[in-house]
Amino acid sequence: MKIYKAAIIGLGPSGLAVNKILYGDRPNEIIAFENEDINNRDNIFGFWLTDWMRPFESIIEKKWFKWTIRNNNTEVVHTNTDKPYCVISFKAWKKFCLETNNNLEIKNKQVVRYLPEQNFFKIITADKKEYYAEKIYDSRSLKEKKGELLQHFLGINITVADNTFDDKKLTLMHFTEENNVLHFMYILPFSHNKALVESTVFSKEVFPSAWYREKINDYLKKNNITEYNEKSSEKGVIPMFFAEEKRSANSNIFNIGIRGGACKPSTGYAFSFIIKHIQLLKNSNTNYVNVHKFLERKMDKIFIKFLKNNKENGHSFIKLASNLNGNEFQSFMMGESSLLTKLKIIKSMPKLPFIKELFK
Ligand SMILES: Cc1cc2nc3c(=O)[nH]c(=O)nc-3n(C[C@H](O)[C@H](O)[C@H](O)COP(=O)(O)OP(=O)(O)OC[C@H]3O[C@@H](n4cnc5c(N)ncnc54)[C@H](O)[C@@H]3O)c2cc1C
Repeated sequence: MKIYKAAIIGLGPSGLAVNKILYGDRPNEIIAFENEDINNRDNIFGFWLTDWMRPFESIIEKKWFKWTIRNNNTEVVHTNTDKPYCVISFKAWKKFCLETNNNLEIKNKQVVRYLPEQNFFKIITADKKEYYAEKIYDSRSLKEKKGELLQHFLGINITVADNTFDDKKLTLMHFTEENNVLHFMYILPFSHNKALVESTVFSKEVFPSAWYREKINDYLKKNNITEYNEKSSEKGVIPMFFAEEKRSANSNIFNIGIRGGACKPSTGYAFSFIIKHIQLLKNSNTNYVNVHKFLERKMDKIFIKFLKNNKENGHSFIKLASNLNGNEFQSFMMGESSLLTKLKIIKSMPKLPFIKELFK
């Protein structure tokens, strides 16, 4: 009976990070289970360049030093020369994380359950096979939960006529001010004629693809882009609630990724926090570390409650952005804001609804 050093369940960004960051330098036998064919996965992950992400600079696809948050009437432009907004593709992350000195065996199988046996675990897959490992890294997570907010989106990668986009400035949020739903466009101009154009919603229900596509078409038309070639698309749902499974009672079970509480639910940013989480686990002798600081978590919870219980069309986001400079804004988004920035954020928020959410 072969007992692997560790079993990774799911080869999304977090499972891959475990392989690279925790086991990449050691000649251990590792087994990974993945339900889907990850070679078909093709999306990009955005984040601001924090210190913990600098080791991965070589695989960053593009950096933007200027971004905008706006609606049709008001535009806030931020710049940051030190900590730009960056993207890494899933394909580049996968390649980077699979180049290691360990011995990784990948099984294209679904894990049904695992249970402790003496000082290792028995892992059972859907085809009723059994595998054994000393440690478990589990990234299976709930993407939706009744009554909770979700960030859901569909984006298309397009090519257009030359000099259509200003590739020095990305549109982080362009609120379209719909009647009954919080919706914004996210535009990543990779060059003057190539961009990812994404329609994003914060709500409790996911919409059919046609809904986002209509918003994308409206947006492109309003910007005089009538002819374009769609190269690929990405679609997703990100939970706007903290995962419940964060901590396992068994010290050899590590919940990782969104399951491990890495997502910042008020914004949907998860990728760089997933990596930070694995880096923190590397330097810890427990199976649980909090990626997000206490005050950041508290503010996130209040903000989400506010979004759940109030009709918000983007004005609060624009006001918040206008009260912060580029450096303060990125520090808030990456969970590194100072007390002074936090106070500025609180001051930017609509007072009465926020006070109500605080005491609910
Ligand atoms: C299209 C898209 C774009 C995103 N863009 C950004 C972004 O720009 N910035 C950002 O910060 N975040 C972004 N996110 C959010 C977040 O970074 C991703 O959701 C990320 O993939 C989460 O990584 P994870 O490892 O926690 O989970 P996942 O990526 O969901 O990986 C879990 C893996 O486990 C596999 N699996 C599940 N159950 C089983 C089972 N029983 N047996 C075996 N395998 C199983 C799944 O197939 C999956 O591959 C995006 C998400 C999506 C979907």
